[in-house]
Amino acid sequence: MAWIIEALKERGLSTAMRVALRYMLGRLRGVDDIIKCALCPNFCKFNCPTHIASGSETHSPAGRARVAFFIESGVLELNPENALPLYTCLGCLACKAYCPFNFSVPEITYRLRVRLRQANALPVQLAQIVDNLSRHKFLHGPRPAEDRIAGNLLYIRGCTVRQHLPSLAEITMEVFKRFGVTLATHADEVCCGFHAYLLGAEDIFRDLAKMSIELLKKYSCAITSCPTIAYTYRVLYPRFGFQLPIEVYHVTELLKRVMSEQQVKLREVRKKVVVHESWPLSRGIETSNVMLDLLKSIPGVEVALPIRHGRYVYDIGGYCSLLKFVNQWLVRRIAQERLRELSTVGNIIVTSSPDATIVFRELGANVYDIVEVMAEALGL
Ligand code: SF4
Ligand code: SF4
Repeated sequence: MAWIIEALKERGLSTAMRVALRYMLGRLRGVDDIIKCALCPNFCKFNCPTHIASGSETHSPAGRARVAFFIESGVLELNPENALPLYTCLGCLACKAYCPFNFSVPEITYRLRVRLRQANALPVQLAQIVDNLSRHKFLHGPRPAEDRIAGNLLYIRGCTVRQHLPSLAEITMEVFKRFGVTLATHADEVCCGFHAYLLGAEDIFRDLAKMSIELLKKYSCAITSCPTIAYTYRVLYPRFGFQLPIEVYHVTELLKRVMSEQQVKLREVRKKVVVHESWPLSRGIETSNVMLDLLKSIPGVEVALPIRHGRYVYDIGGYCSLLKFVNQWLVRRIAQERLRELSTVGNIIVTSSPDATIVFRELGANVYDIVEVMAEALGL
């Protein structure tokens, strides 16, 4: 308890004792959670990607909570420069996996991010994202002009697949066609709102959630290539009071189901692969084992896992984070660290995250989406 009192002694012994006692009893809530996290000796920082890659305490979980505490308490001014560490957070929940209080930094700092946005104190690099989301409902600017494709099941490709990896959407549709499932795409597909959540732009988040749910109502089931969309729809929408009218699956979940129903014969694929899981599937909706099951079902594929996997995965930040828009250097450093770790196990990477595919390919890695491996096994 001594280190807590030391940290609080400027505020008087009685305050220090009261906070320390409440801290020990685990009864602090709301803004007080930030105090608890700020006082923590950073139990979880060894798995925080931004801290590992930058070596900076400011970009560690407790470092962010300390910045948040000082802004909340008026010690630091509410301005974009001071607030920047809150937007370099990937929102990856790796801190939560190790936190004795079950905290995640993006959750406990959410209300402050809302306040920062209301006070026009967002870092200037993020202004374009706010504009894109509010005007175009699309992360990357004006939505691509596309035809609507009819089908019996909605395929939510996601902003980044539509803008940067449209070939993955085409392969995904071909793979499902082989199982007799015609995927529908719709020009009214909008951003899921995850970035709006990270920005604290609750008005935009709610607009996007409403529009997404209106689109879902036209179909009986939906799938998505993007793990972050699956997490946002299934976890964040209900948290903000939006109930899903239909089931929304990640592509891997439906693929596993149709494969088990149809017993399709797969070709041998001679590959020894190392798996890169994504946090929204492994920690968000806890389904990353589905990708492993799919890979193991393909004859000839040998599957290996890196040290940090499953619930404890070290994920990277690409377009599905705000970091990509505020610090490209740190995005590359995080990905390089992950590639180093993966390379100790294997050189062919398989992932179900389009974001990871893009970032790893930019760094010259040999990476496949699970759907591409499945297409090869189906002879497509
Ligand atoms: S998230 Fe939990 S473990 Fe991590 S620094 Fe905060 S209180 Fe400590
Ligand atoms: S959510 Fe991820 S990036 Fe943000 S503080 Fe937690 S571990 Fe670090």
